[in-house]
Amino acid sequence: MSKQRYELDPITLEYIPVKRNRWKEILVFLTAGVVFMVLGFLILPHYFDTPDELALRRENEDLKLHVAVLDKKFDHLEAVLKNIQKRDKNLYRLLFEAEPIPDDVREAGYGGSDDANLNDLSADAVTRLNRKMEALSKKLVVQSQSFDELIRLAKEKEKYLSHIPAIQPVENKDLKRLASGFGRRFHPILKIWRPHNGLDFTAKTGTPIYATGDGVVTYAGRGSGFGLHVKIDHGYGYETVYAHMSRMAVRKGQKVKRGQIIGYVGSTGLSTGPHLHYEVHYKGKPVNPIYYFYRDLNAEDYEKLMEISKTAQQSLD
Ligand SMILES: [Zn+2]
Repeated sequence: MSKQRYELDPITLEYIPVKRNRWKEILVFLTAGVVFMVLGFLILPHYFDTPDELALRRENEDLKLHVAVLDKKFDHLEAVLKNIQKRDKNLYRLLFEAEPIPDDVREAGYGGSDDANLNDLSADAVTRLNRKMEALSKKLVVQSQSFDELIRLAKEKEKYLSHIPAIQPVENKDLKRLASGFGRRFHPILKIWRPHNGLDFTAKTGTPIYATGDGVVTYAGRGSGFGLHVKIDHGYGYETVYAHMSRMAVRKGQKVKRGQIIGYVGSTGLSTGPHLHYEVHYKGKPVNPIYYFYRDLNAEDYEKLMEISKTAQQSLD
């Protein structure tokens, strides 16, 4: 119900009823309606999602989750690689007494972990994942090179192990062949006490003598005290001497393998009976050959032979 409105007449100074303009009122009403509608369209979407926006928002949430999962997977790979690196270092140190690849090289210029917010789905998150992937790739390349080096070291070690003297020079299954150990012994011909720089193995003339490690024959001939004897250079500072042979089976300059027959037991040179005098030299000095039989003896037999070598006094040269 509309009220009657009045206005002041400036001349008569009386209030006179205002004439209502219906058309104007309708126009104002319509204009207000349009304004409200426009405002509604502009403002409401800020408070309520359209179906399209709702779908995008969900997709966005999914992507955030994927990024977080990828990030976790990278961290896991990183941990696996760390474990491999640790084992790798141990292999270097324990087996090869070599220095492993330094940490700064392994890290390959990667500056540690990135603690940026994972819920932030932006170009940054993708960049971060990319950087992690690149760092991981670089570390894997270094790791692969490290394994190459390990293989090289293993091959070198294998070569080393095949070269150093490691078996007995004659067959000695019942351990009864050792007649004299290493150290001061009474010489049966010279009749004096003097250092015995090797071990004496008694055996019948013609018993095969074996090279105790891979190497090169540096001498094969006759010497004053040693009679017919062979010297082998094994490299790595090791040399072996096989004396009093009845016959030699190798010549100077020949390459030999461990276990290869290089001659036969005899009694040439200063010797009182058929036997093999065997010496091991390390860096030019005679060492006790008993420490170089580990390849063909079990622990128990090794102990026994060790005892025999301490008490065996019957030097044949
Ligand atoms: Zn001897």
